[in-house]
Amino acid sequence: MTRIFSGVKPTGHLTLGNYLGAVRRWVEVDQHRGEALFSVVDLHALTVEHDPARVRRLSRQAATLLLASGLDPEVCTLFVQSHVDEHARLSYLLECTATDGELRRMIQYKEKSVRAREAGQGVRLSLLTYPVLMAADILAYGADEVPVGEDQTQHVELTRDLAVRFNQRYGHTFTVPKATRPEVAARVMDLQDPSSKMGKSHENGAGIVYLLDDADTVRRKVMRAVTDSGREVEYDRDAKPGVANLLDLMAAATGGDPEELAGAYASYGALKKDTADAVVELLRPVRERHAELAADPGFVDRVLKEGAERARGTARPLVDRAYRAIGLLPAA
Ligand code: ATP
Ligand code: MG
Repeated sequence: MTRIFSGVKPTGHLTLGNYLGAVRRWVEVDQHRGEALFSVVDLHALTVEHDPARVRRLSRQAATLLLASGLDPEVCTLFVQSHVDEHARLSYLLECTATDGELRRMIQYKEKSVRAREAGQGVRLSLLTYPVLMAADILAYGADEVPVGEDQTQHVELTRDLAVRFNQRYGHTFTVPKATRPEVAARVMDLQDPSSKMGKSHENGAGIVYLLDDADTVRRKVMRAVTDSGREVEYDRDAKPGVANLLDLMAAATGGDPEELAGAYASYGALKKDTADAVVELLRPVRERHAELAADPGFVDRVLKEGAERARGTARPLVDRAYRAIGLLPAA
């Protein structure tokens, strides 16, 4: 059976980018296709300046939102990364497999380390090693597939390289996974800056639609989206990134095709209005369900506890095997 793993970091409130690039597909397709595990990867939230109470709060909120989006704990496994020791255990072995050169090449490391420096903060060592921990997240479960947004492609490539290298040196241990991506909206751009991706940890929330934004806020953000010069509605990601982003959102929300949709609009204003309405309708059920679930934190806690137990049961034997393969003496 196909094994699937993916995760989301509690570094901020979940965004429309997270939803369209990843979560919606987990709900609609991936959880039903195989043995699927989804994780709130909280250790990754410690790689940049963080507030402990906020990370804790956002972890619970992310888990609640994943359930509100439709992950079904009867069908898939939902858990918090730090509840399963195997991630950190395996990460160390993979640090002994990766080189510092290949980690320094990671685009996200470059971007996020610049941001940390600009904010006058030190760059945490864990920001550099973050993709190794992510590789451990995936390899600990023998995942075949990793459904992620486009921005994670490079990290999954590194994961593949590490799996292949480990297998070649120490004998076959890991499944070599592959990234899968949605057909539309694999990269949702910031509404105020369509040259950069919508990211939940970014400072300026005006260009970011959060899953928990109310309808008026969503409408305002979409209506104020930066568009491009000219007036023609065309789907051209290079020449008209702002308009293309709106067309992608509209297509993803309504199940249409961005190029075809472009032909249906005579003005930016009309496109914005329909996109705003479509996004509001897309998010309405998620927000409503979130409110119900947030009123019953005991349920979310139970789901996470059972999820961690199941996840541990899958990861433990595989990580133990890696410990033996790399040359560590088994405990008597
Ligand atoms: P951060 O700014 O802290 O990196 P993020 O919004 O990028 O937060 P992640 O937790 O890093 O969120 O990613 C969770 C999932 O959402 C990943 O599969 C990632 O590829 C996807 N994703 C994140 N941003 C976007 C986006 N703008 N468009 C499409 N998918 C996205
Ligand atoms: Mg990210």
